[in-house]
Amino acid sequence: MDRRSFLSYAGAAGAAASGAFAFRRWQEIPPVVHYLGRAEGHYLRDRRQLPAPSEVIETDVAILGSGIAGLAAAWRLKRDGHRGALMIDGPQPFGNAAGGHFGDLAFPTGAHYLPLPSPESVHVRELLFDLGIIERDPFAEKPYYDERFILHAPEERLLLNGRWQDGFIPATGVGAAELAEHRRFFAEVERLRHLRGSDGRRVFVFPTIASSSDGSFDGLDRITLKDWLDQNGYRSPTLHWYLNYCCRDDYGTRYDKVSAWAGLHYYCSRWGQAANAGNGAWLTWPGGLAPLAEKMAQASGIARRAGTAVSVKRSGAGVEALCFTLDGGVARTYLVKARKAICAMPVFVAARVVESIKDYGFDPARHTPAYAPWMVANFLMKNFPRERPGMPLCWDNVAYQEPGLGYVVSTHQDIRVTPPPKTVFSAYVALSDRTPEAARKWLQGASAEELVALASVDLKTAYGWRFAANVERVDITLRAHAMAAPLPGFRSNAGTKALREADGPILFAHADLSGFSVFEEAAWWGVVAARRAMA
Ligand SMILES: Cc1cc2nc3c(=O)[nH]c(=O)nc-3n(C[C@H](O)[C@H](O)[C@H](O)COP(=O)(O)OP(=O)(O)OC[C@H]3O[C@@H](n4cnc5c(N)ncnc54)[C@H](O)[C@@H]3O)c2cc1C
Repeated sequence: MDRRSFLSYAGAAGAAASGAFAFRRWQEIPPVVHYLGRAEGHYLRDRRQLPAPSEVIETDVAILGSGIAGLAAAWRLKRDGHRGALMIDGPQPFGNAAGGHFGDLAFPTGAHYLPLPSPESVHVRELLFDLGIIERDPFAEKPYYDERFILHAPEERLLLNGRWQDGFIPATGVGAAELAEHRRFFAEVERLRHLRGSDGRRVFVFPTIASSSDGSFDGLDRITLKDWLDQNGYRSPTLHWYLNYCCRDDYGTRYDKVSAWAGLHYYCSRWGQAANAGNGAWLTWPGGLAPLAEKMAQASGIARRAGTAVSVKRSGAGVEALCFTLDGGVARTYLVKARKAICAMPVFVAARVVESIKDYGFDPARHTPAYAPWMVANFLMKNFPRERPGMPLCWDNVAYQEPGLGYVVSTHQDIRVTPPPKTVFSAYVALSDRTPEAARKWLQGASAEELVALASVDLKTAYGWRFAANVERVDITLRAHAMAAPLPGFRSNAGTKALREADGPILFAHADLSGFSVFEEAAWWGVVAARRAMA
């Protein structure tokens, strides 16, 4: 369904407050700031402060972490007939796939879309079929999807020179020579997409472990994406802007830092098709991927418990995990005894809590990846502000600038005859303009007003004072160690390789094992760990 005309109408209904009043009002809205995992991190650093366990829980398989990897493990266990697993949520239930609600309005506080899985992503297709999101032919070239979750048009727009244009690749006012370079780049992507190594496998696939191991592509992981563009004669500033935007959006890291292999992988691997959608379409929900995470949790039927593991160690033939909860700042601990434990937490956390992690081949000093921090700000809008000319409001809306990554509209998938009275604009900021350490320091010290100012840069560019006049509430989620940054060399990290291969009472599952954070990789390691846990 084309919702363009409806959204134009909604845009025209913006508030008419004066600029000065709008900014005064703005300052009166106290943002709610969520520093995810900060309180728990304090105890992880100094576990001696914790009291003795008040309870011992016995289970067969303990899943420590409730992100997509942990949820995929729980789902796979259930599918394979296993009973008797327990999930410890960790400090962030659903991890980077979490969301929130303002009343009836759902919104994402992290991941917000999943591209149609390509043929190699059998594990994702099986999951989506089981959850009813793929309705028919899950392993055919073109499965049939539940249309409610296929991203509707208009999908995305870019604010360039004061006008909105269709799509993110700058086009309006861009010269012929630059446009020719854009075409050359996408032709190259098309070639790389089909390219196979000497072992007959495609070079860029999900899961990445199934990519060709032909060494002649290793060089791509020794340079940055910007180096690759320069070496291949791409000079177009708009192409460079676009690819830098994509790296910041996908990996929280600039294109002059991201491995060329990772930068190209994103384009060349996610090309799934559907019987009832265009090639490369996306799946999304008003709450981002949180409803999908919720479906995974429900389908797995797993018992879940609040808590954060502070130590995980071998004990006899099994594993013991000491976990704690914080209630009003008061810590309580309990001990989980399991035959096997799946550490579905980020590897920098596993490095702290798993006893003698070096024995698994992971040396925290050498193998811990750099983590990109992220901020997501959810603005409850009491009206849709008036739009600039060009394209109407889309699902994803980006301004041609840094550091913002644009904003996503939570009610986009609503199919209604009349406009919804309210909506949520979710603004994404990756803080990639500074080092991760400097960004974390800034996040720790920044006032709520400074956070809102940064989070609303794109929205103020798009709407001016009208933006503030239409905001009713702001919630900000800070993810200080949000995702591993795939810097050059990430493919040959011997420590994450060792954790990928670990097979015993303690298992590992997280997108970090691949060195970059996307749904397909997280789910893959969850599925692999579940199979090992059953053995
Ligand atoms: C802002 C943002 C937007 C994103 N958007 C997308 C997107 O649109 N599409 C996409 O495919 N990917 C996106 N991603 C990537 C996303 O990270 C992955 O898709 C995926 O959700 C990662 O899942 P995971 O299970 O590997 O890790 P995480 O989501 O990091 O989950 C880790 C889990 O471990 C738990 N944990 C931590 N410490 C402990 C402990 N000590 N004990 C027990 N548990 C612990 C946490 O509570 C959490 O539940 C985005 C990421 C971010 C930050």
